Amino acid sequence: MYADLREKVAVVTGGSKGLGSAIAIRFGCEGMSIVVNYHTDEGGAQNAVRAIRDAGGRACAVQADIGSEDGVRRLRDAAASEYGRLDVWVNNAGMENRSPTDKLALEDWNQVINTNLTGVFLGSKCALEHFVENDKPGCIINMSSVHEKIPWPTFAHYAASKGGVELFTKTIALEYADRGIRANCIGPGAINTPINKEKFADPEQYDTTVSMIPMGRIGEPEDVASAAAWLASEEARYVTGITLFVDGGMALYPSFQYGNG
Ligand code: NAD
Repeated sequence: MYADLREKVAVVTGGSKGLGSAIAIRFGCEGMSIVVNYHTDEGGAQNAVRAIRDAGGRACAVQADIGSEDGVRRLRDAAASEYGRLDVWVNNAGMENRSPTDKLALEDWNQVINTNLTGVFLGSKCALEHFVENDKPGCIINMSSVHEKIPWPTFAHYAASKGGVELFTKTIALEYADRGIRANCIGPGAINTPINKEKFADPEQYDTTVSMIPMGRIGEPEDVASAAAWLASEEARYVTGITLFVDGGMALYPSFQYGNG
């Protein structure tokens, strides 16, 4: 538990399931007030809201496409109207789809870039405007991936979006450091969420993925939520511009694990 989080207000994008839901619920357990964003799955968002209220936090579910400026403004307005302040903004919403790059449709490229990278820009801009206008410190957490640094064949648009998120985040961290605004990424490895449902349902693909993780297990959403709570808290007050990998060592060139090479 982080005592300073108790009074704070957060926006979490893509909060209806997976990592966003786990982060929102963890924030709720810290006593925070949370705007839980959803795109289409209102039921999922309401489940998160209920879990947060049960844990002692306050929460509301707000529909918005985070790839649009109107959408992210709606989230900021909800934080102001419902809870009267904004302290933490988590740009978590994201998507992926597989295609060999020579067959990758421009439409699919644009959709992934718009959600994963433009959405992070729009959400961060919205939060920054609020922090600057109110002359207050703030915290931005952007969901990157181990694929901000590990190339991922047949997911070139996804890897490009996450590489972009990394440098975008470092840049705003530097740009706003002197105002007390911190911006960091979380870089998950392979985590047990709906995005991986089909892959992990196939025992062969599941085992292959586990074999790429030095700690020998798939991550749980709560592993990532713990990192988000720490980054949001005062315990991380001197931390800005990093990617905190939460990946069981996946980004550490696992093929070298036992002295190979
Ligand atoms: P998920 O598919 O379970 O959840 C993604 C969420 O994003 C959903 O709630 C979805 O509705 C929302 N979303 C998508 N497009 C949206 C839009 N335009 N507007 C608003 N919401 C939108 O996936 P997840 O595993 O929870 O992934 C969350 C984030 O973590 C993503 O950015 C993903 O790239 C990243 N990530 C996940 C893993 C993993 O192994 N699960 C690994 C690395 C990075």
